[in-house]
Amino acid sequence: MATATKLHVLDCGSMSCDLTWLLLKPGRSIRPRADRDKPVEWYPCTTHAVLVETPEGTMLWDTSCPRDWETRWVPTGLQEFFPYDRVSEEQYLDSRLGQLGVSPEQLDYVVLSHLHFDHAGNVQTFAGTGARMVCNKKEKDWALGFDGAFNGAHLKSDYDGVDFETVEGDTAFLPGVTFLEAPGHTPGTMAMKVDLPETGSMIFTSDAVYMGDSYGPPVTPAAIVNDLAAFYESVEKIRGIAQESDATVVFGHDAEQLWSMRRAPSGYYA
Ligand SMILES: [Zn+2]
Repeated sequence: MATATKLHVLDCGSMSCDLTWLLLKPGRSIRPRADRDKPVEWYPCTTHAVLVETPEGTMLWDTSCPRDWETRWVPTGLQEFFPYDRVSEEQYLDSRLGQLGVSPEQLDYVVLSHLHFDHAGNVQTFAGTGARMVCNKKEKDWALGFDGAFNGAHLKSDYDGVDFETVEGDTAFLPGVTFLEAPGHTPGTMAMKVDLPETGSMIFTSDAVYMGDSYGPPVTPAAIVNDLAAFYESVEKIRGIAQESDATVVFGHDAEQLWSMRRAPSGYYA
């Protein structure tokens, strides 16, 4: 079986948010009367990107949040709900790539799990460098199909004018790299499965599954879901593939998990 060569997890710091956005469930976010005066629980909503080296090129999975989030996100109001305020200079995406000695021009592919503001925040950095820009067809259609500057967490200026190549269905894309259609969070959300020679398989769920507590079982839904039935279906699809391939499942915004992983530049998976 063809495999990827090396995989680097880029820890890009955290937004802060009310955990209710991520986990909707009785007793936690939906509270009994005994907890009516309990303060809101703010969570370090970690954000990461993944650099995958393969025999056929180097690929970046997702682009995290932009440095200018505080002004860029103003039209959406999201800077008040998801401030990207737990990030150090060395954690910004461009810094992380620099620490690995990778300039934007050296990337062959930049692939977006979906086009939300906290994943597509640095897309414009890579447009025009020669990297092939890739997302799911349903995501592109949806993200460019609404009127106005933004819709929910899709902010057109993040990706407007970018010449996306699109994929559909589950796609074997590069040696050891497969994209899995996992709609629900957004119409064209994708997860990524990477097969490595020593580590075995890893599945990066992006926001098809926010965190371990979302995955369960039981599955816990979230406040931002485009299609709830599709969301549940995608979680079970990922679970099935993970079991079949004995994969490590890496969630989209799970702080505890991310902090327990090997992270660039000091650690990687081979
Ligand atoms: Zn996200």
